[in-house]
Amino acid sequence: MEQHPLQFMQNRLDTLHHEHLYRQLRIGHEGSEAWIEFEGRRVLNLSSNNYLGLAEHPELKMAASHAAQRFGSGTGSSRLIAGNSELHEQLEKRLATFKLCESALLFNSGYTANIGVLTALATRGDLILSDELNHASIIDGCRLSRATCKIYPHSDVAALEALLASAKKESHTGKIIVVTDSVFSMDGDRAPLTAIAALCRDYHALLIVDEAHATGCIGPSGRGLLAEEGIEYEGIIAINTLSKAMGSFGAFVAGPTLVREYLINVARTFIFTTALPAPVVAASLAAVDMLERKPALVEKLRENATFFRQGLQEMGFDTLQSSTHIIPILIGDPQIAMEMTERLLANGVFAIAIRPPTVPAGTARIRTSVLASHSRADLAHALRIFERVADEMGISSHATLRR
Ligand code: PMP
Repeated sequence: MEQHPLQFMQNRLDTLHHEHLYRQLRIGHEGSEAWIEFEGRRVLNLSSNNYLGLAEHPELKMAASHAAQRFGSGTGSSRLIAGNSELHEQLEKRLATFKLCESALLFNSGYTANIGVLTALATRGDLILSDELNHASIIDGCRLSRATCKIYPHSDVAALEALLASAKKESHTGKIIVVTDSVFSMDGDRAPLTAIAALCRDYHALLIVDEAHATGCIGPSGRGLLAEEGIEYEGIIAINTLSKAMGSFGAFVAGPTLVREYLINVARTFIFTTALPAPVVAASLAAVDMLERKPALVEKLRENATFFRQGLQEMGFDTLQSSTHIIPILIGDPQIAMEMTERLLANGVFAIAIRPPTVPAGTARIRTSVLASHSRADLAHALRIFERVADEMGISSHATLRR
């Protein structure tokens, strides 16, 4: 029998419903600060990556609106055609200095930065070694590059070394690339970067580090985990986003000048896309200014994270290996995780359930992220609500949540 041409979509959606993995856009959601409007109510926000609260900061808003008045809302073309400006170049210089690197190159998002860098650097015959919990954009970049990809167990330095030791056989070209998040987006733990960088140096491998959740959050003035650990190796390329702690939009790659020149010439997601609009670039400049002037924001984020993580752990929740502002609460079953999110919301706390395929099967969780703009009272209130909801759901016996 002939099938309707869209039938396969319905089938797939039915399966997702059945497995409690169906996703839906919700409306009535305003803002990304500590408290937001959600479906007409004021709720405490534990689901934003606006970690420093800069997305709604008056200085960033002012910078964006001035730039809009002066340069307009769009750039009308790619950087290599007619979309480049002094403002773009100025931001790149500031970002390079901020990240203690020779140079920086803007991309339109973290997603396209990872795709662009991986496909520009790796090709058929090369070998990429990638952490099993790396972000989807890294996974997609690895796939699109057509290099041979080997996945190593999460943050397992010994396993990575074993792969590097046998890499000569796998890499037909001799080129080896190791890629890892620095702070893992759904687990909030840190990659053992010092050890990984040392291995890369020993085995002459390139190291790509995705600092999306570290830049602005970790290290001196939020310079990231590479800076925090004082890692210096000329074979490192860092991917950073401007859309999270920096409160703006877009991304940048930081590394040696040669890398910038190479990416301008080879990275398809840089070449074939319209330049970031001036208001966005100006807001990013204001964010770098802010971080350099107010390192206390980063300290506040760290203190809030420690307070909230300890509170959850004392209540018996399994926060996995989190040591940052991203604090997961392991639930396991996606249906229970969804129910918990709904009950938290009913109690005025917005903390979204994260389900496969974003996280591995059996590890559905509530992913919380604290913000520098949360007050102690906000976080203490959230802890009370978590306890209440866990009680209501009969999962406060602690042991049920532990692996
Ligand atoms: N890398 C990581 C580790 C991320 O978590 C994300 C976004 N969640 C990205 C890259 C993509 O960044 P963007 O949202 O700017 O596309």
